[in-house]
This record gives sequence, structure tokens and C-alpha cells, in this order.
Amino acid sequence: MYSVKEAESIILTQIQPRQETEKVSLEAAFGRILAEDISSDLDFPYWDNSAMDGYAVRYEDVKDTNPENPVTLKIIAEIPAGKVPEKIIQPGETARIFTGAMLPAGSDTIIMQENTQKQGERVAILIPPEKIGLFVRQRGTFYRAGNTLLKAGIALNSPEIAVLATAQATELTVFSRPQVAIFSTGDELINPDETLQKGQIIDSNRYALTAFVASLGAIPRPLGIIKDNPDLLRETIRKAINSSAIVLSTGGVSVGDYDYIEGILGELGGKILIGSVAIQPGKPLTFATFPNGCIYFGIPGNPVSALVSCWRFVQMAIKKLSGLTEYQNKFLRVVTRDTLQSNGQREVYLWGKIEIIEGVYQFQLASGQHNSANLINLAGTNALAIIPQGKTTIQAGETVEVMTGLPL
Ligand code: AMP
Ligand code: MG
Repeated sequence: MYSVKEAESIILTQIQPRQETEKVSLEAAFGRILAEDISSDLDFPYWDNSAMDGYAVRYEDVKDTNPENPVTLKIIAEIPAGKVPEKIIQPGETARIFTGAMLPAGSDTIIMQENTQKQGERVAILIPPEKIGLFVRQRGTFYRAGNTLLKAGIALNSPEIAVLATAQATELTVFSRPQVAIFSTGDELINPDETLQKGQIIDSNRYALTAFVASLGAIPRPLGIIKDNPDLLRETIRKAINSSAIVLSTGGVSVGDYDYIEGILGELGGKILIGSVAIQPGKPLTFATFPNGCIYFGIPGNPVSALVSCWRFVQMAIKKLSGLTEYQNKFLRVVTRDTLQSNGQREVYLWGKIEIIEGVYQFQLASGQHNSANLINLAGTNALAIIPQGKTTIQAGETVEVMTGLPL
């Protein structure tokens, strides 16, 4: 049995960012992962321009002005945004200018209009600027043409989309989304729209995993419920590994008489690299690779174990395969409001919520039973508190390591 860290490292070693890319338009790029470095042949700002509505002046002319005896300048032009200035500002002259408009040659500083008083053809500058260049956005000070603007491997959210638009990158190369096959195994399982007979269990894992995979930007391929029948399982797994980058099955990976998955993976040429992990919940995790590059996760059937395995291990695997540079899980230390307990034998993950209480992040354990079959109190959680192997108690008020960013 591997430790959580060992399992993480085995999994990550097997996964390389996929090579398949596709072109998408900027409109369709939100949420995708960039597969090329982006640069622009434009400087940002494109040219010196005004950060204020006001007057473009020569610093020399106005540096000694004061409200009692203000310098007055002749207004020789009006420059709205989008218009190219035609005149050069000479000593004693100014141009009326608006936010975003190009700075006229000869001027070097903007006086905001609140610090001026218009007097017909002239304007009085009431307050001197603190320095030359005030309120001028200088060409190239945000970005110099030719440098890398966005790096391959980042996810495209609204700020990056804005940068791409301004760089005129209207067609982009992004990583194509990996397909993830999902199926549930167990004779006891029924679909949510069927009538529950005695002894049966409703398949929640298929829905949980489909949502989980979609939340990571991959394409879920749900294959439904497969009975605990070795022939059916073998056929399903064979199809899944030949048509998907990753396969997630739940159930059938414990040591019970109906747990066939590991055996079948071996028969189909899979290399089983992990058979169990010292984690609670989620110990019976199977991880295998196939010669065609397919990655297989045999996930425990209990609904909480299934999602904890997904968050802890599958999440980073899908992110890395998808081409994301930042694929690692995110941990932070916060104060726990509840005492957390473990028998010390495995690394324990307790579900709950990180909340801002009196301005400080704190961990609050989900109320109700912490049992790997209790999916009810998993709803609404956003974090897992971790009790390291060998430790039995973390007292309320102490700090605890918490895994965050669960795609709930
Ligand atoms: P297994 O790993 O197949 O032994 O399953 C462990 C437990 O999880 C059993 O109580 C199963 O009934 C339950 N279980 C397995 N698969 C699912 C599923 N897809 N949805 C909900 N519960 C499940
Ligand atoms: Mg089962």
C-alpha cells in the first residue's frame, strides 16, 4: 500500500500533457487551455495617451503655476479619443484632451480638468503637476511588442480573453479536451429514474463523476451501470480504454468476491501501478496504464470515497493531461473550528467548509456522520481537512492543512 504522496507521484509520472490541439475562435476560447505562447507586435499602450479628461501641456510651462497667479495657456486643438493630433504644442499652448486620446507632440503632461479654469480661448492652470509625465500612459509601459504575453498551459478566463482580444489573437491553438469514460459497477445499482427495490442502491457516482469531469473542462463519456459480470466488465473496459484518454470506473476494486476490476485490467494488458493507498476514505484505489497510453482509475464505490479519490488524485491527472501547467492540488493551513480525529492508521480526509469568520479563513467540519457512504453531508462542502498518518487528534483552534478548490 502506497502513501498518498507516493501514489500522487506515481500517477503524475505516468501522465504527460496531451499533444492534440485544435483551433478555436476567441469567442469560443473561454475555459480552454492555451497550447501556444502568445505575443503581439503591438506595444501596450499602443501610443502615449491621456489617462484623464483635461489638458495636454508642456511641464516646463506650468510647473510653477499657482491658484493666486495661474499660468494661462492658449487652447490650440481639441483631441477626443480616436483622433490623431495634428498640431504640435508650442510654449504657451495646450490642447483640450480626453481619456484615451493620443498625446499631441510637444506636450508631455496632462492636467486634469478639475485643476483648470477655462477662459474663452485660453485655460488657466490652477495647480502645478507633481511631476513631468503625470497622467500620461506611456507607449510600451504595460508590454513591449515581441515579448511573451501569455504562456502555453494557462486556462483562459476573462482577464486572459481580454489580453487575447487586445493582441488581436482572434484564432487560438488550444489543447483538445480529453475524453473521460465513466461507468459504475455493481449488481445492486439502479438508475435514478427506476423504482427502488429492497436492497438496491441508486447510482449516484455516475452523476457525481460526470459533473466532476465536466467541471475540469474534460469531456465525460458516461457508459452507465455495468453488472458485476466479468464478461460484461471486460467488454466495457476494452471499449473504454480504446476510445478515451482516461477511464474512471467506480466499485469492484475492494477485496470482495464480486470485485473483478483488477483482474480484468491485467488480462487486457493493463499495468497495475497502484492497488491501494493509505488514505481514508478511498483506500482501494486502483491505478493502471495501458500500452495505448490510456490511464485507468478504478475508484472505490462508496460515494464519498469516490469523490475524495477524484479530488485528491484524478483531478490533478486530468488537469495535467489537459495541458494545464498548474495541475497540482492546492493546500493551505487554516484554523479548525472543530476537533478533528483519526485512528492514525491512514492519511484522513475530513470534508467541510472553509469559511471567512471574523475576517479569517477557518475550517468547519461538515455536520452529521463522517462515513464514506454518507454523501448527504458532502453537499455544500468546499474543502478537505487532512490529518496526517500517525496523528490522531487536531484540537479545535489549532491549524490544519486543508485541500481547497474542490470543483463542487
Ligand atoms: P464496492 O466498491 O463495489 O464494494 O462498493 C462499495 C459500496 O459503495 C457499496 O455499498 C456499494 O453499494 C456502493 N456503491 C458502489 N457503486 C456505487 C454507485 N455507483 N453509486 C452509489 N453507491 C455505490
Ligand atoms: Mg460493488
